[in-house]
Amino acid sequence: MTDLKGIRVRFAPSPTGELHIGSLRTTLTNYLFARKNNGTFILRIEDTDQKRFVDGAIERLIDSLAWAGMTIDEGVKIDESTGVVIEDGPCGPYIQSKRLAIYREYVQQLLDEGKAYHCFCSAERLAEMRAVQQARKEAPKYDRHCCALTTEEVQAKIDAGESHVVRFKIPEGMTSFDDMIFGHIEVNNDTLDDQVLMKSDGFPTYHLAVVVDDHLMEISHVIRATEWLASTPKHVLLYEAFGWKETMPQFCHVAPILNHNRKKLSKREGSVSVQDFRDKGYPKEAIINFIALLGWNPKTEQEIFTMDELISQFDTAKMNRAGGVFDMDRLNWISREHIKRMTIEDLYREGLPFLEQKEFFEKAKVSKHKEDFIKRLLTVEQDRLDTFVQIGEENQFFFADAVTVDKDVLRWKENTDTDTQEVLARAQTILAAVSEEDWTRENVEKILMEAAGEKRGDFLWPLRAALTGEKRSPSPFDCAWVLGKDETLERITHALTCYM
Ligand code: GLU
Repeated sequence: MTDLKGIRVRFAPSPTGELHIGSLRTTLTNYLFARKNNGTFILRIEDTDQKRFVDGAIERLIDSLAWAGMTIDEGVKIDESTGVVIEDGPCGPYIQSKRLAIYREYVQQLLDEGKAYHCFCSAERLAEMRAVQQARKEAPKYDRHCCALTTEEVQAKIDAGESHVVRFKIPEGMTSFDDMIFGHIEVNNDTLDDQVLMKSDGFPTYHLAVVVDDHLMEISHVIRATEWLASTPKHVLLYEAFGWKETMPQFCHVAPILNHNRKKLSKREGSVSVQDFRDKGYPKEAIINFIALLGWNPKTEQEIFTMDELISQFDTAKMNRAGGVFDMDRLNWISREHIKRMTIEDLYREGLPFLEQKEFFEKAKVSKHKEDFIKRLLTVEQDRLDTFVQIGEENQFFFADAVTVDKDVLRWKENTDTDTQEVLARAQTILAAVSEEDWTRENVEKILMEAAGEKRGDFLWPLRAALTGEKRSPSPFDCAWVLGKDETLERITHALTCYM
């Protein structure tokens, strides 16, 4: 065995599709635990159920982890330069379908020691057996029909090519373990079914593969979803059967993410995969922050965390047993707070791909595609964005070649058209006198506020309406600054044509 030290945790997804937001939370728990304890974060692919394998799922899983900022220390990775999946590491292959010989060897050990047995029962016989048990209101459990076969009988059946599985012979007694979140758990072994370890297709079941791999990979803490809590006693018994009890990992079962009816979040709720949220333009920091707080209570007032802050404050003792309810409004709030904290450089880099998909952007003239212009827009919109998808949405007038205005939109309250025309002409003169270098956000605001004096609405409303054509928009200073001097003056001139 390899000499692997310290805290070692693994994320062990089955490559059956997109990474679910609930799985991202399990991954995050593993990741935070590893980083907090200077441990190793391992990615292992559990693809022993070949029927459920989805092509490309491994690559997409890795991509989702990378996007979320979780770096894999060991296990399946993508070679940055070639883009090829790396499957091997210090523990051999980290994709279970490449480890079949290893599982066979360990199953053979259990067979040799009489701790497992071959089962030749047909699907029909098992179904009948279950129906009888159900009618008697008994829990479904294999009746050990094949356990009575002699070695010769077993061999004869194997030689005759009879389809079979290998089952674990659950010993009598009680089994217990301590879960880091659920505490002490004890079950009577007679409630446990003789688990299939090796399927008829020669693939191990999850239960066998997970125990063998966690042992060989020297996993110190198994952090996974609560759906596996009920299977853990069987795993504990397998550790005992192999003689690995002394080095058995600690278990930590993480509650699922729930919908408003307190049921597990499913596709019916709409977005459930990490990719869905990515496509919707949520910053990764927001998703991470949001899911970290679902079912984890930092016990302080702080609600907005960076990954580094999560790592330093993470503590499994503060994790809840109950699942956290997915609240979209809260996600949007957290997302907005993260966007507010971004530098304009980062916001530009992350937001541009979303803006580029918009028709209003595509149709806009070249000057509206310039970095300077977009950064000014982002500066103005930054505090109001929940997601990157919203960039420019509410303020499409910035991208238009010209805006349509009429006297009704331009007029402030009871003012006359003559008042409005005068105000626009004055604004035009004042702004025309500002040099290009002085056209900063602060200066434009200062100059216009001075010009407005006491009667702010009378001066600022017509100007804002002339620049935007809208009843609601950012302030006239912000609009003038984003548009730049030339376009601002052009739009005022255009508005003045209403009075000709
Ligand atoms: N392959 C299992 C799953 O995707 C992993 C369970 C575990 O972490 O032990 O749920």
